[in-house]
Amino acid sequence: MLHAKQSSEQPGINMLSRTTSNEEIVRVSAPAKINLHLEVLGLRDDGFHELAMVMQSINLTDLLTFRACPEGTIQLICDQPSLSTGEDNLVVRAAKLLKSLSKRSDLGVSIDLQKRIPIGAGLAGGSTDGAAALVGLNALWGLNFSSSELESMAAELGSDMPFCVAGGTQLCFGRGELLEPLPSIQEPMAVVLIKDPSVSVSTPWAYGRYKDINQDSYLKANKFESRRQALREKSWLPPLRSSDPPPLHNDLQNVVVPEILAVKNALSLLHLLPNSLSVAMSGSGPSCFALFADLRDAKSAINRYQKAFDGAGLESWCCSLLSHGVKLEQ
Ligand code: C5P
Repeated sequence: MLHAKQSSEQPGINMLSRTTSNEEIVRVSAPAKINLHLEVLGLRDDGFHELAMVMQSINLTDLLTFRACPEGTIQLICDQPSLSTGEDNLVVRAAKLLKSLSKRSDLGVSIDLQKRIPIGAGLAGGSTDGAAALVGLNALWGLNFSSSELESMAAELGSDMPFCVAGGTQLCFGRGELLEPLPSIQEPMAVVLIKDPSVSVSTPWAYGRYKDINQDSYLKANKFESRRQALREKSWLPPLRSSDPPPLHNDLQNVVVPEILAVKNALSLLHLLPNSLSVAMSGSGPSCFALFADLRDAKSAINRYQKAFDGAGLESWCCSLLSHGVKLEQ
C-alpha cells in the first residue's frame, strides 16, 4: 500500500510556478512511445498476455497543465472534443487514485490537456497522459511519492502506464509493469511515423486474434524467464551498425496486417523511404514507423514522401527518440 511521505524533500515541488494571481500551476509534457520489440510469450493467470517488449519514448508529446483547485474537485478539460473527460479517462483515474492514497479530501485540481498524440493509435497516448497526471499532481499537491511508487500506481491503472513515468528506452515484461531501463540509444536516431486517421485497431481484438492463431505454441510460465534473458542479451544498445539493421519486431503485426489493409499499406509505403533502417507497427497499431540513423535522414524522407502520405490520407510525423518519459516543465 502506498502512502504520501511527510518529508520536507519534495522532488518536483520547485517546479511549481505561480501566476500573477498567485495561482499554483504545474506543467508536464507527456511523450508517446513506440515498440522496438513486442513479443507475446504466453497467457498469464489473470487472463492477460505475458509480454516481452522494448519500449522507446519519442518527442511527439501531449501537454498537461495542472491548476490547484481549493474546492477539492477534479476537473479535466481537453482540446479534442472526441476524447472523454469523464471517469474512463486515465488522467481522471490517476488523479483520483493519487488523491485517495494521499488521504487528503481537500485536494482538488483543474487539468487542461492539449492533445498532440493521436488517439487509439498504439502510441500509449492515454497512458502517457495518465502518467503525467501522477507526476504532475505529485508535484502540485506536494505528496512526495517516489518514482517507483508512482510506477506501482501506474501499473494498477494500465499496462503501458508504468513505462511512461520514466520512459526513455526500457525492457518491459509482465503486462508491462516489470521495467528494466536500458541505456539510452546514443545515436541520434529518429522515426517517421504514419497513421490513417480513419482507422483504429481494438487492442482486445488484436490480442484475441493472436490467441486464436497462436495459442497452441504459447510458452508455459516456467519458460518466460529464458525468453526475457534472450531479450536482455540482444543488441539493442549502440552501436547499431548500418550493416546490421535494428531488429524491430512486433508479434501483433502478423495478425493485424492480414486484416487491416491500412496497416499493410502504411508498412509498404514506409519500406519505400530512402535510408530507412527498419520498419514496424507500434503496439496493436494502426501507427507504423520507419527508423532512421538521424533526424536529417528522417526529415529528408518525410519531405520526399509527404505528398504520397497526404494522397493516401495518412497523418505523418518526424520524431526524435527521447531518453525520458513524462517531464515537469518550467
Ligand atoms: O492494457 P490495455 O487496457 O491496453 O488492454 C486492453 C486489452 O488487451 C485487455 O483487456 C486484454 O484483452 C488485451 N491485453 C492482453 N494482454 C496484455 C495487454 C492487453 O491480453 N498484456
